[in-house]
Amino acid sequence: MKKTNTIKSKTRSILLMAVCVILFIALQIVVTIAGIRGTTQFNGVLMAFQFGICLLMLRVDYRIGFKISIFLTSFATIFLLSNILRSHNMSALPGFFNTIIYIISLTLLYWQFKTREAEAITDVLTGLLNRRGLYKLLQKRTESKKPFHLIYIDLDNFKMINDNFGHSFGDLILKAVAKKLVALVGTAGVITRMGGDEFTIILDGDQDSEMVANNIIKAIAEPLTIVVDESTTENYLRAYAGIASFPGDSRNYEELLKYADIAMFESAKNNSTTAYRFNKNMESAVKKQVELEMIIKESLEKNYFYLVYQPQFKLNSKELRGFEALLRIKTPTGNMISPADFIPVAEKTDLIKSIDEYVLKRALKELKEMTSLTDRPLTISVNVSAQSIASPEFANQVIKLVSEANIKKDQLEIEITEYCLVQSVDITIANIRMLKAHGIKVALDDFGTGYTSLAYLFKMPIDLLKIDKSLIDDIELNEKNKRFVNAVISLGHIMGCEVISEGVEKQEQLELLKEQNCDFIQGYVWGRPMEFDKAKEVL
Ligand code: C2E
Ligand code: CA
Ligand code: CA
Repeated sequence: MKKTNTIKSKTRSILLMAVCVILFIALQIVVTIAGIRGTTQFNGVLMAFQFGICLLMLRVDYRIGFKISIFLTSFATIFLLSNILRSHNMSALPGFFNTIIYIISLTLLYWQFKTREAEAITDVLTGLLNRRGLYKLLQKRTESKKPFHLIYIDLDNFKMINDNFGHSFGDLILKAVAKKLVALVGTAGVITRMGGDEFTIILDGDQDSEMVANNIIKAIAEPLTIVVDESTTENYLRAYAGIASFPGDSRNYEELLKYADIAMFESAKNNSTTAYRFNKNMESAVKKQVELEMIIKESLEKNYFYLVYQPQFKLNSKELRGFEALLRIKTPTGNMISPADFIPVAEKTDLIKSIDEYVLKRALKELKEMTSLTDRPLTISVNVSAQSIASPEFANQVIKLVSEANIKKDQLEIEITEYCLVQSVDITIANIRMLKAHGIKVALDDFGTGYTSLAYLFKMPIDLLKIDKSLIDDIELNEKNKRFVNAVISLGHIMGCEVISEGVEKQEQLELLKEQNCDFIQGYVWGRPMEFDKAKEVL
């Protein structure tokens, strides 16, 4: 479709140019005859028309238009000059100067077009080609049919640098990385900054693309020295790379870009230190993701979502503390989709924010209904993604929703993971503080799976520490794990938090956690996630 459109517009340009050339020559013939007859009073107007025609050709295609215009105008100039010299007829002199001025004007315009085009395809920050330039170049390369490789490069955790050290520092890093790439690739390839922290490189088909890509990964992993205001910092970066080749992987450049990106993504997913070459299996994984994305969108529109509630208990009295709200999708065909499948997909897009908002609203509404059935103070824990807690408006939105829902503020608990605490730190902490200031509780989910330093955690205003299931799994069998969980529980108490153990499945685990003074538990041993109606029955 795109191709036929391009062919159509090309034919149109050629036709228009041909009409322009014929018109120009016709006008030139009229000017010449008028000159011979001595009726030159309209020549100024006719030449102005000729100039207009040249402008039109520049507008249609400034490169070809300029060449043709200069050729025609020069021809007219020489013709006028020869007339003056041959017949010593000075009446053609003004026309001669006119054509000279036309040539100068056309050349100036041509330069203007050329600089504008160069600016439009250059990345302002790095001076490399930009995305638009790459598309143009790829179009040309695929049309020329010569084999080439496309390497897609993405920096790891660059967002964190931007968030922690500011965008101007991030810009310095990007410039330095661009410099490294230029030094490494030189004239062997064309480097593009795609925007953000993504780069691509086009290499000729006879080059060893894997070697080049792996060298780039190594070079980027070397410490990067940045000097700001006479203070020097060493920065440690990582890059992932994917490769797709023309015409082997695809003859379509958009597809090729997508494939190189998919290969890069696969390499990042596996935490690989080498570049990945695209293969068709990778594509089917991506297809599945795209399908899931569609299902999520449809679920948001048509409300295929619902919440199940898993009870949380006080460990020593088995008294109900509240529920964790867990999201499910049930499609009209009866297909159940687990959040373990669709949440990671949603997290790669902005869909997760809509999901979080939906869950909050629905959980608050259902909590209100549950509250009317019992005198017990109930807590509902809602999982919130890193993206949501890192958006500036998040805390305000939650506070507003809680007020509208007409429940006590301390009945809501927001569950975030440690990962949230390393993403957009400032905004996240401001949000947590604001939630806390309004009495909303905050729990740290999946605790013990990594990311944060203890010193940092101590500064966090957290109410509840949730020990991850993986730590609980074999505490009854493994002495080391048992002592570790014991230490984590003590740590939580020192931090001034209550502690809940998640994924408790066995009676022995329960007994051990009791000995260790764990405050609450959540797990199959005392309660699986249940549908809303069932949860109401329990109350
Ligand atoms: P999570 O927040 O760590 O939730 C606990 C998961 O462990 C739940 O799986 C729960 O059903 C499961 N679980 C609880 N006790 C046991 C047990 O004793 N044994 C076993 N084998 N599993 C147990 P689920 O519901 O499949 O949720 C998976 C993950 O999906 C959640 O992990 C959470 O990260 C995410 N998620 C679920 N609902 C939401 C949501 O509404 N919003 C967001 N952003 N994420 C959600
Ligand atoms: Ca959770
Ligand atoms: Ca968890």
